[in-house]
Amino acid sequence: MTERVYFDWNATAPLRAHAREAMIAALERVGNPSSVHGEGRAARALVEKAREQVAALVGGEPRNVIFTSGATEANMLALTPAIETGAERRPRRTLFVSAIEHPSVRTGGRFGTVTELPVTADGVIDLAKGEQALAHSELALVSLMLANNETGTVQPIRELADIVHRAGALLHVDAVQAPGRIRVDIAALGADLLTISSHKLGGPQGAGALMLREGVRITEPLIRGGGQERNRRAGTENVAAIAGFGVAAACATAFEDDAKRMIGLRNQIEAGIRAITPQAVIVGAAGERLPNTTLVVMPGMSAENAVIAFDLNGVALSSGAACSSGKVQPSHVLAAMGFDEKLAKSALRISLGRETTPNDMESLLLAWKKLVPSLSKARSDTTQTVKAAIAASAA
Ligand code: PMP
Repeated sequence: MTERVYFDWNATAPLRAHAREAMIAALERVGNPSSVHGEGRAARALVEKAREQVAALVGGEPRNVIFTSGATEANMLALTPAIETGAERRPRRTLFVSAIEHPSVRTGGRFGTVTELPVTADGVIDLAKGEQALAHSELALVSLMLANNETGTVQPIRELADIVHRAGALLHVDAVQAPGRIRVDIAALGADLLTISSHKLGGPQGAGALMLREGVRITEPLIRGGGQERNRRAGTENVAAIAGFGVAAACATAFEDDAKRMIGLRNQIEAGIRAITPQAVIVGAAGERLPNTTLVVMPGMSAENAVIAFDLNGVALSSGAACSSGKVQPSHVLAAMGFDEKLAKSALRISLGRETTPNDMESLLLAWKKLVPSLSKARSDTTQTVKAAIAASAA
């Protein structure tokens, strides 16, 4: 069997060894964290330890962590009119999200309507247009991502937070793709609510958290029932998953060396791709990006076919948009940046991680050389087509 290489860390990251150990240890115990006996208290201790680890990762207070079944649920929980802060008890009236948010944010959570804020041709949330839109709003909630899952573009959240707060609004930040890659600190970002996901940082799938700034309260839970998570999320906690999430969060806190290595490999991959296929366009390359993410638009190529061809050659990567329904849809992120549907369907995402090796990189580039030139049927005017699309969107 061919050895496989994995370049889809933004979809899910391999489970960290320490997280696996913590999960196995937790699975071998009995006890409901809500029970008062010794077994229950031991399970509670695992959950509370993880709460401290997750809070530390994002610079928050453990009591302000709400464990959920993942980032999708955390986003749904956050996007509600029922948020209070300090003396402000009136419900939030409107929701603004950027045009490049994950579907779990774009659908608007528990708001009836959603207003989209545009991004520039570089995939960065448009500060000026955002400010204009918010000027006419009252009691708004704004949800913006820290780093985009497709392009890796890091958003100017601190500046956006100032704009949001000047308009009297609150800011929710979907920070799912950031931990373990760049620094995430709820106070430094100026976020009022912040979402993270376990499986993107080396914990198990099916666990996540919503972190609240001190003084922010969600008064209507999404899941009602028992009083778990301080009445903010009912249901017996997924103890093993939460324990694994906590340990993964602790491991992800020291990320600088990993980030440096990832940038080095990422840059070599991009140089290799440019050398093999000069018509390739690396999306967002001029701006600030995550250390691990490369989105390549290959004019004339079907990303759907390319993903299959790479898979058959032992390389796991993904098309620009996740195909959660089994069918690749054109990426809403690239559409928002001004790429036409055809180009948006030609984008391949390469996302690496701390375990990616130079050998993995070699295998990827070998497969690129073997597959992409014939898959992309490159035309001489292709790069111009991309540039024109970008220019048109900027106009
Ligand atoms: N937000 C972003 C930016 C994501 O990339 C993802 C996962 N693709 C989610 C939210 C949803 O996370 P989860 O899989 O934990 O529900």
